[in-house]
Amino acid sequence: MPESVPLPHPVTGAPFASPVPPGTGWPDDVATHDTPVARTATRVQRLAKGAVGQAELDARISVCRACPRLVAWREEVAVSKRAAFVDQPYWGRPVPAFGPVDAPVLVVGLAPAAHGANRTGRNFTGDRSGDWLYGALHRAGYASQPGSRAAGDGLELDGVRIIAPVRCAPPQNKPTTQEKRTCAPWLDADLARSAPHVRSIMCLGSIGWDTTIAGVRHAGWEVPRPKPAFGHGARATLRTPQGREVALVGCYHVSQQNTFTGKLTETMLDEVIASL
Ligand code: SF4
Repeated sequence: MPESVPLPHPVTGAPFASPVPPGTGWPDDVATHDTPVARTATRVQRLAKGAVGQAELDARISVCRACPRLVAWREEVAVSKRAAFVDQPYWGRPVPAFGPVDAPVLVVGLAPAAHGANRTGRNFTGDRSGDWLYGALHRAGYASQPGSRAAGDGLELDGVRIIAPVRCAPPQNKPTTQEKRTCAPWLDADLARSAPHVRSIMCLGSIGWDTTIAGVRHAGWEVPRPKPAFGHGARATLRTPQGREVALVGCYHVSQQNTFTGKLTETMLDEVIASL
């Protein structure tokens, strides 16, 4: 049940309902009222294949409703909210990739965080994980700002693109196998556009690693056999359908569980990013 009282966006101050209706002016929202909505896995496949440009693909992703459990969860979170954000609208929709489509570096996580990207509409935005990731990308020259507060905050990426293979926030951060499979055509379409440009793919955590390998295999890329094992700093060589070599690079996830405990330090993160 959408929230009926519009609340001001934290950057622009414009009022929005939660979840945010497409075409109502949310920063960087490329969807409109007429963007076609996928309600089944088959429709995801058709709409992903038929999207002509990146904006059309992103728009179609951002209104997808093909996974009933995830649609219900993302919208329920958008209305119930976390106490710290009760005065803000929540995006509550699937989150498209962020960064230039011709970027030589891809960063792959898993899925939007319930109160981060599901609130702000941009990957790794509005939470501590994002502070770590964008802080490191800024130190390496890939991000114009060290933080990522909200869509519309002026952050720009140069040379890096950030993708979640599952575009909707899942309960307990755990999408089902079927949900990953249903969402895969959106990733296929993104990878097809990235393939001519990409040099390295940094996977955050073992689930991102495994999902990326499954995704590139599904998209027709060559992956070494046996399957390369995830580790912090692990590397493997992939080959695109056009025959280009791409480095697959593992990195511990920037979750608070890893950064608070010291399992992942800034130095460790900086070293992996410097190797991309
Ligand atoms: Fe659509 Fe992917 Fe979200 Fe499922 S997870 S509803 S396929 S965007």
